[in-house]
Amino acid sequence: MRDKIGLKCVDCGDINYTTTKNKKLHTGKFEVKKYCKRERKHTSHKETKLKS
Ligand SMILES: [Zn+2]
Repeated sequence: MRDKIGLKCVDCGDINYTTTKNKKLHTGKFEVKKYCKRERKHTSHKETKLKS
């Protein structure tokens, strides 16, 4: 079972990306560097739950 999640910019709070994750492979929260359109730079993005 894969959950749909969003990747949220920790600086401005925008959800810039959506992805899915496998619960069995990924436990806990992860953080990735992604480009933020609002800030026009790479920032840390953390996973957040999406309302489906
Ligand atoms: Zn941002």
